[in-house]
Amino acid sequence: MPHFNVQHSLADLGEPFSLPCNPTPVPAPQWLAFNASLAAQLQLPQQYWHSDDGLAAFSGNALPNWASPRAHAYAGHQFGHFVPQLGDGRALLLAEVISTDNRRFDIQLKGAGRTPFSRRGDGRAPLGPVLREYLVSEAMHALGVPTTRALAAVLTGDWVQRETSEPGAVLTRVAASHIRIGSFQYIAAHGDTTQLKTLADYVIDRHYPHCAGAAKPYVALLSAVVGKQAKLIAKWMSLGFIHGVMNTDNMSVAGETIDYGPCAFMDNFNPAQVYSFIDSQGRYAWGNQPRIASWNLARFAETLLPLLSEQPEQAVELATQVLQGFNNQNEAEFLRLMAAKIGITAATNEDETLIRDLLNLMSANQADFSQSFRLLSRSVNDSNAGAAMLFTDKRNWADWAAKWQQRLAVQGVDLAEVSQQMDSINPAVVARNHLVVQAIIQATEHADLTLFNRLQQALATPYTLSDANAAFALPPEPQQLIKNTFC
Ligand code: AMP
Ligand code: MG
Ligand code: MG
Repeated sequence: MPHFNVQHSLADLGEPFSLPCNPTPVPAPQWLAFNASLAAQLQLPQQYWHSDDGLAAFSGNALPNWASPRAHAYAGHQFGHFVPQLGDGRALLLAEVISTDNRRFDIQLKGAGRTPFSRRGDGRAPLGPVLREYLVSEAMHALGVPTTRALAAVLTGDWVQRETSEPGAVLTRVAASHIRIGSFQYIAAHGDTTQLKTLADYVIDRHYPHCAGAAKPYVALLSAVVGKQAKLIAKWMSLGFIHGVMNTDNMSVAGETIDYGPCAFMDNFNPAQVYSFIDSQGRYAWGNQPRIASWNLARFAETLLPLLSEQPEQAVELATQVLQGFNNQNEAEFLRLMAAKIGITAATNEDETLIRDLLNLMSANQADFSQSFRLLSRSVNDSNAGAAMLFTDKRNWADWAAKWQQRLAVQGVDLAEVSQQMDSINPAVVARNHLVVQAIIQATEHADLTLFNRLQQALATPYTLSDANAAFALPPEPQQLIKNTFC
């Protein structure tokens, strides 16, 4: 008989992995959003579905009897600088639940008040970032990207002080787990080898059970995390997604996209694109993401060294070998995904040139990333149609299109089928900056959720272009273009 199956495996590990901490009540909670399909998957009791009990639970005003709230301890490299203690400064793990498909998920409140890790922060979240994370994480899920999800969003009735005073909100986030590379860095910096082993065994048991039977379980763990991240970053890149704050504390060991701050889907293609206001050096630019992921994974490997081998030299050698696999795996996955985007079912190394040439053409013509690929399905047998309109440099476009069409011909697959296949993987609708910002402004300044709700609906079916979502498929007009995003 299916039921709401609640567990507390991280809490059960005790300190120093997490500390008990209650949410802080808020004055006047109000519903913003509730994710019924996710609630069903988690078998959340109906009592909490968009109800007063749910509002109390997801605002932090009443602790449900199934919760055992904990703040998780982690460290992290922020923009390359090590901070030995970060931790859940405004997040609280309520419980873990086993879903209908027998997977374990964390249910976490974000913005529910101060914790032992809050440092000078207020433990709160402004409405804007909560709505952004809700929209973008659910959009990523609909695109088939491994990601944390949004179960609920509520207003607190309080104000939070940032650059200006903003309405406060709480997001209920769901994740395979919230364990990050930074979680390992925390134990490596503050704990002992026994605690490190406890955490590594916990992650193996929870996320990579196959590693337990490997000859070298912790090498297998490193390899599994490297593999997951190599694929995840390739997927981001193939969608024009820029995470924005790839600090080691924002990289999940389960391989999900986590911590949606100044993230963005790129409009005009530019490999050096950065939106995050705080990323002035472009460290986390679109094209830098594989390099940064690889750097972060090296920091993860460093924490595991004592477990990899009793001989330090051998430990380093084993770690290096695994880390070297990142580039190949990431590049192969990127090639596979990008080839599929242009209608090629079995990518060969020669297709790399075709893909690189297209990306160069897009960047030289400032072509919109999502539209370029979406419209390409209309160009399979007519170079003057579809994506042609995005390229002012008609000659180079025509040259590229001719080579591409030849490549498709060699494949021998019916072009109508190729075209259909392309539309099923190149999204028509992504969470574009200017739309997300418009939805946030309407909600924040006019208490109007109409656009937020419409956008959310459109993003749930990103591959289907319909009358209802056609307006959201268009790139921004020059005056709508958003240059900077904020945490
Ligand atoms: P982030 O930039 O969101 O990855 O957060 C980095 C660190 O700052 C994490 O330890 C967060 O928990 C903490 N943090 C961010 N905002 C707040 C806040 N308003 N109050 C307390 N801690 C915060
Ligand atoms: Mg973070
Ligand atoms: Mg954050």
